[in-house]
Amino acid sequence: MRILIVEDETKMADLLARSLREEGFAADVAGDGPQGEDLALTQDYDAIVLDRMLPGKDGLAVCRSLREHGLRTPVRLLTAKDAVADRVDGLNAGADDYLAKPFAFEELLARLRALLRRHGDKSPILRLADLALDPIRREVRRAGQPIHLTRREYALLEYLLRQTGNVLDRQTLLEHVWDDFEAVEGNIVDVYINYLRQKIDKGFSPKLIQTVRGTGYVLKADDG
Ligand code: CA
Repeated sequence: MRILIVEDETKMADLLARSLREEGFAADVAGDGPQGEDLALTQDYDAIVLDRMLPGKDGLAVCRSLREHGLRTPVRLLTAKDAVADRVDGLNAGADDYLAKPFAFEELLARLRALLRRHGDKSPILRLADLALDPIRREVRRAGQPIHLTRREYALLEYLLRQTGNVLDRQTLLEHVWDDFEAVEGNIVDVYINYLRQKIDKGFSPKLIQTVRGTGYVLKADDG
């Protein structure tokens, strides 16, 4: 699951991103309205956490614009004010849910999960051959057998599955699965691909993670 956080308070944004990543989500951060809008329209997110008060373009205007562009990604609006009028404004602008600051991270997480469940028809279980990943329960099975993955392995597999058939270079995988601020070893993507292979491909057929020489990796069920 990939979440976009649009929040100008850096500390808050970093805390949210870090907490979401700890829960196995991939999280991108935008620091103002226009950047958030641009990312929301050009990248594929499962949900958007949108602060109401933003520089450049406020959260309500961003939300309205996303809906006008036909984007249906669930939006959770964050606001410092907890007034009925604010809530109504938010819903009128096309937000799916609303949370007043300050809030407990646990509540945001629970509500995000509920939001993703409600939109469950849009984020069904991801499947390739006999591999299945349930993004809501965060469960992975191969040939019906449960497979335990670490948080990072899970995030990598979910991203690969969402991009099934697309060849992904190491830089792309790094950007979607690793935190910008982490110091990573040059070969970390290859290391984690090998961990994943041990868990989801070893002892199973067909092999799903395929190496594209000189480029990167692709998840697919055939050799072609
Ligand atoms: Ca703000």
